Amino acid sequence: MVKETKFYELLGVAPDASEAQLKTAYRKGALKWHPDKNAHNPDAEAKFKELSRAYEVLSDPDKRQLYDQYGEQGLEQGGMGGGGMAAEDLFAQFFGGGGGGGPFGGMFGGGMREQGPKKARTISHVHKVSLEDMYRGKISKLALQKSVICPKCTGRGGKEGAVKTCTGCDGRGMKHMMRQMGPMIQRFQTVCPDCQGEGEIIRDKDRCKQCNGKKTIIERKVLHVHVDRGVKSGHKVEFRGEGDQLPGVEPGDVVFEIEQKPHNRFQRKDDDLFYHAEIDLLTALAGGSIHIEHLDERWLTVDIIPGECISQGEVKVIRGQGMPSYRHHDYGNLYIQFEVKFPDHLTGPDGGPMTPEQIKALESVLPPRKVPDILPPPDAMTEDFTLEAVDPTQENQRARGMADDDDDDMHPGAERVQCASQ
Ligand SMILES: [Zn+2]
Ligand SMILES: [Zn+2]
Repeated sequence: MVKETKFYELLGVAPDASEAQLKTAYRKGALKWHPDKNAHNPDAEAKFKELSRAYEVLSDPDKRQLYDQYGEQGLEQGGMGGGGMAAEDLFAQFFGGGGGGGPFGGMFGGGMREQGPKKARTISHVHKVSLEDMYRGKISKLALQKSVICPKCTGRGGKEGAVKTCTGCDGRGMKHMMRQMGPMIQRFQTVCPDCQGEGEIIRDKDRCKQCNGKKTIIERKVLHVHVDRGVKSGHKVEFRGEGDQLPGVEPGDVVFEIEQKPHNRFQRKDDDLFYHAEIDLLTALAGGSIHIEHLDERWLTVDIIPGECISQGEVKVIRGQGMPSYRHHDYGNLYIQFEVKFPDHLTGPDGGPMTPEQIKALESVLPPRKVPDILPPPDAMTEDFTLEAVDPTQENQRARGMADDDDDDMHPGAERVQCASQ
């Protein structure tokens, strides 16, 4: 009925054995032949692996059917040959729950260790760029250190054939250990002591001299990062596969994130530039010009027309003098916010008070004085005052003094009231 009986014989059961019988047989055999319990029996490990392989096939209904019909060759052709579960993993699964349960979790009978191809980590850098460079565009040459596959041993770590899969852990780097405590078998997972978790063993004399068996070396690589005109902060320039190389995994990527350095003249918002211009009152009223150094060594001369009358905080725009837009290269606007510096004093020709002629001259160009909305009634008692400059240090002292002895101090309004009543 069955083509081969080898797997059944290994487990010591009949070809018509039930699932439960297979299970019992494997449990017995695996505990007997487990390498941890057979340190002095060199054949035990091979036996343990054969046993595990047999059980792995027979416990899977699909595989068992294939095996029954076509034997081991059938499994091979059916794609269920090599790459089956490592004996240790199967064992872990079977006796799972003791220590970590093994790397397969609940999955049974697969050879899929990873989901999708493994990739080396991405190297990320922030690339700070001046606003000038963002305006004109440039190519930055940036050097980075990355690991590359050792050219001498082509990533093997030693001479061809010198690198052996660690037999202690089947190349997994981790090892299941077990301890019998009375009727219980305690299992735990630990870093393989034979290979220190590498999964491989290289004899010292065969070790690659260039990489010292590490399979990779550190290399300095210069990348040309295109800072395109109009690029904005946060833009990412990606170099696929230019990152770390590691044996057996896809090379990582390198990503540069563009970040604009602060600029001493301009602020940027999207494609627009903002500029702060300080002008004097005369320029604001009677015209003049300001000069703005742009980002490409040009200077913009901006005329303020006489009588344009720039007010404090007013914003004006020069169209098309902002940043080039990324990829399209039409330009944003340049917005100028004015700060009008008032003179401290206006004086006459001799440095004294303004002359009536000067005042008339001002009155001739400026809008007339606004008549106040609220005037005192004709019979009101009025007093005249002039303003004084505020001295902050004196004000502070005053505030402190008043807080200390409020009652003794003369009421701030008292003197004036007295004067007014005289
Ligand atoms: Zn090992
Ligand atoms: Zn090497």
